[in-house]
Amino acid sequence: MFRSIRWRIAIPYVILILLVMVVMGIYLSRLLRQTYLRNLDNQLITEAIVARDSLIDAFGTGSSSVKLDSRAKHLAALIDARVTLIAADGTVLGDSHDDLTSMDNHANRPEILQAAAQGQGSSERYSKTEDQEMFYAAVPVINQNQKVGFIRLALPLLQVQSNIRQVERTILFFTLVASVIAIFLAMLIASQTTRPLRDLTEATTQIASGDLSVHIIPVSKDEVGQLTRAFNTMGERLRYHVDELESERSRLSAVLDEMSDGVLIIDGYGKIQLINKAAEEMFGIGHDKAIGSSLIEAVRQYQLMELWQKYRQTGELQAVLIEIPTKKLYLQTVATSLGKALPESTLLLLQNLTRLRHLETVRQDFITNISHELRTPLASLKALTETLQDTALDDPPAARRFLQQIETEVDALSLMVSELLELSRIESGKVPLKMEATSPTDLINQAVERLQLQAERAGLEIQTTCQTNLPMVLADPSRMEQVLVNLLHNAIKFTPANGVISIGCHLNDDKMLFSVKDTGIGIPADDLPRIFERFYKTDRARSGGGTGLGLAISRHIIEAHGGKIWAESIEGQGSTFYFTIPLAT
Ligand code: ADP
Repeated sequence: MFRSIRWRIAIPYVILILLVMVVMGIYLSRLLRQTYLRNLDNQLITEAIVARDSLIDAFGTGSSSVKLDSRAKHLAALIDARVTLIAADGTVLGDSHDDLTSMDNHANRPEILQAAAQGQGSSERYSKTEDQEMFYAAVPVINQNQKVGFIRLALPLLQVQSNIRQVERTILFFTLVASVIAIFLAMLIASQTTRPLRDLTEATTQIASGDLSVHIIPVSKDEVGQLTRAFNTMGERLRYHVDELESERSRLSAVLDEMSDGVLIIDGYGKIQLINKAAEEMFGIGHDKAIGSSLIEAVRQYQLMELWQKYRQTGELQAVLIEIPTKKLYLQTVATSLGKALPESTLLLLQNLTRLRHLETVRQDFITNISHELRTPLASLKALTETLQDTALDDPPAARRFLQQIETEVDALSLMVSELLELSRIESGKVPLKMEATSPTDLINQAVERLQLQAERAGLEIQTTCQTNLPMVLADPSRMEQVLVNLLHNAIKFTPANGVISIGCHLNDDKMLFSVKDTGIGIPADDLPRIFERFYKTDRARSGGGTGLGLAISRHIIEAHGGKIWAESIEGQGSTFYFTIPLAT
């Protein structure tokens, strides 16, 4: 409690006041006592001198002690003081207050000795006779140049003492009052002086807890006011720098988080200091768990660990291609320095090559597929023409049959080439879509109409399950029909007789959802993600006709409409193809 500034201000004041009052009290009471005693001395000496004149004869004539004693008593009654008459040898001749017989020789009393030597004497002391503090004054009685005795007057000091005590009490009272006032004033001053300091303390605590918006209004122009203004300036600067740092940091983290490449910063002990979103996703680790944990613990990739160790040993940039089979990831990883800013840390860059690798596979598959697709009709064309040349030319009906077969093969080839051309045109955006508000039910009905006969021939039933009162969709009707025909055609192709094909459309949030469901052979789970690629066919479909381009074309058409296409299937039970397109509003 006494550590606070108010007490530090108040206590010296109080001590000073107490000191001054005590010193003043002591000094005043002494002065008072001396003044009282001096006055008493003068008064008693004067009275003794006056009394001496009237008593000279009594001393000189050798009056009896009885007579002197009664004179003493008489005088005492007059002047209201104790009167003692003493012979020159110190024998007490009369006393107003005591019995002569019990009184000893007074020759050695200090006032008598002093009066004998200096003509008057006084002293104060405790009187056994009176049983209290007394003040004595004595003068010699001289008759015809002969010292015949002494007159001594005495008064109790009781009055003096009580007066002094009164003064002391008054001083004490004022000392207390002054102390209380001093404490009160000190509190007031201290509280006013420390209020800005308290505000400052509060503001500092707020800043420390992260609230940088604090501003204090300076109340004075003194040093504390200056401090407040300096504090405000400091707060503004701090805010400015923190804001700058914050926006710098958000820019940096936005860049890092939007990067498709993984970024890791590893400290000298192999612990992760920074990890971006891409790297978190690559290794399937949460941000909070990754930060501070060791590289090997967090990513469980010994190749990455080796790369980091090699970089630490050589200090040279290291690069390696890492494959994570469980996640089907291919990462080009680079370990390099972060320059002088973080000399002990290592920057690990993880470039995700999975998509490139995938595209490479698709490209290779495409070439394999197209070669395969071309080889079959070309080989049979070659065989047909050779046979025609060798033998059939002389046999016109056989030659006609061969030519018909050649025509079929050429038709298949030209279909494939035209589909390929179509696909590449759609892919390159060269086919403009004629978008218009179209009824989804009409689209479905037209597609069903076109394939109804084919379905019936294959022994299949087509059911339409469209919601009623559906809104219009925004689509190119001929392209949409192409997609639906494609899906229906596949469903007919891959469903054995007596199967059912359901085609329908439903409102799904703000999109139109189309579905084509069959009870056919289904698609193996491994093939499902790839069936929308060019030329991709499942093994079972490979033997049958078809270019493997239909779904790729459909996907491009749907995506050009701003929609999405996907398939679900259980092998042996059937497949369902879904796609969505936007509504016409
Ligand atoms: P294709 O001309 O071979 O039908 P698509 O691109 O239309 O080419 O289809 C690619 C492959 O997807 C097909 O070869 C087939 O393996 C599979 N597929 C497509 N639709 C179905 C379906 N309804 N049921 C089973 N498999 C299907």
